[in-house]
Amino acid sequence: MSAATTIEVSPKVKGFLEKPIRLLIDGAWVEAASGKTFTVENPATGEVIARVAEGSSEDVDRAVKAARAAFESGPWANMAPTERGRLLWKLAELLEAHQDEFAQIESLDNGKPYTVAKVADVALAIDLFRYMAGWATKVEGNTIPLSGAPAGRYFAYTQREPVGVVAQIIPWNFPLLMAAWKLGPALATGCTVVLKPAEQTPLSALRLGELMLEAGYPKGVINIVTGFGETAGAALAAHPGVDKVAFTGSTEVGKLIVKAATGNLKKVTLELGGKSPNVVLGDADPQLAIRGAANAIFFNHGQVCTAGSRLYVHKNIFDQVVEGVAEQAKKIKLGPGLHPETQMGPLVSSEQFSRVTGFIEVGQKEGAKVLTGGQRHGDKGYFVQPTVFVEAKHEMKIVREEIFGPVVAAMPFDEIDEVVKSANDTSYGLAAAVWTRDVSKAHKLAAKMRAGTVWVNCYNVFDAALPFGGYKESGWGREMGHEVLKLYTETKTVCIQL
Ligand code: ADP
Repeated sequence: MSAATTIEVSPKVKGFLEKPIRLLIDGAWVEAASGKTFTVENPATGEVIARVAEGSSEDVDRAVKAARAAFESGPWANMAPTERGRLLWKLAELLEAHQDEFAQIESLDNGKPYTVAKVADVALAIDLFRYMAGWATKVEGNTIPLSGAPAGRYFAYTQREPVGVVAQIIPWNFPLLMAAWKLGPALATGCTVVLKPAEQTPLSALRLGELMLEAGYPKGVINIVTGFGETAGAALAAHPGVDKVAFTGSTEVGKLIVKAATGNLKKVTLELGGKSPNVVLGDADPQLAIRGAANAIFFNHGQVCTAGSRLYVHKNIFDQVVEGVAEQAKKIKLGPGLHPETQMGPLVSSEQFSRVTGFIEVGQKEGAKVLTGGQRHGDKGYFVQPTVFVEAKHEMKIVREEIFGPVVAAMPFDEIDEVVKSANDTSYGLAAAVWTRDVSKAHKLAAKMRAGTVWVNCYNVFDAALPFGGYKESGWGREMGHEVLKLYTETKTVCIQL
């Protein structure tokens, strides 16, 4: 990479990072009850970039109480839906006005390229808030004729009411966007929120909290408690004052969330891991498939729950496509997210670095062959080369387990029935893709894939209007689209004898 100067960190971002960053509880920025803080590092260098309050169960309790009070009384409880929509729209406008700043924060905190953060994370978060602003005024019930009573004896209708106080626990791979996916539907429907960002990447959510206060959200509607999963996260998932917990993260932690939620049987929605099959049929446009398969696994350094980590290519074009993906991998420019030429940044943390490099070692031990990559890049930060494995077998760990890094296992197939069976032979079911020029095969395969999203001739296309979520151990419920609104509301039936 050339020595082109890095994008200069704006004075606003510098100012934000330098000040003590606190918890947002009941409309105010407060210290953690324990007075503790933790450090946040830049994964490109390992340097500390900020210090953030470390919330614990006491802070969670304060935040839940504030959210309860805001839900039950105060301006939010009686706010007109138009007004809730206006606040979401205002938030989108503010985010847009500060988009460069957010892209910088995201890049410094998570490691992703600034340019990607701007066009993906920040742009999609803005869209999500605008889309949800429109829904605030469209949450409706039905009038329902009773099936077993004479006409005119009863009048019955349903109404949809906000589910209440919602705990939202989010991961580090798309810190701002995951906050937006969670906050948008909660605020559109009239819920109140306690949000816990990932400890690796708490910064953009906290800056978003500042914008929410600026937009005019009443106190207690949004509370942000930063801290660790086993302490703050666990306390939130178990809290008896929470009506629903919405979680995005690993399947392993998702199962803990379900257990923690049983105390008061709070509602649970989960968006968990994946091991998504990406299937290239023999009639696919090879160039399109090559670019698509590379994007499927290398976007966001493979730290995407939908990452196309199992690449199945028809045997007739296997060598061409897989070598093409390896060529693309070799061309990817690795570097710090704020370098203007960077296409792939570091993994988010040393823990993630060890996990991904560990999988690469295991893959080789189990007999798969590295076609390209497989090594650490550079000698500081958590960079891993984009890696393509061939000679992978179905029972190998690199084919069965979620790696969450830029590592793809490519496997040839002959018959469509055979590849459908392999594709679905996983405990996950988040996403799948098919590359073909045959529209009939595309539809047939889309129907057979046991996955919440099937992309055809594209990959990682996310949109605020499209429901997203998993089959099997990839989760419960859906995010985005109008589907998500059901999961933030309770249906009340009112039946009146006339
Ligand atoms: P990853 O393994 O990719 O880091 P996790 O599933 O561990 O993802 O983390 C996702 C989110 O869940 C983070 O905000 C983390 O702090 C939180 N978390 C981790 N463990 C727990 C837990 N036991 N209870 C509640 N939240 C947790």
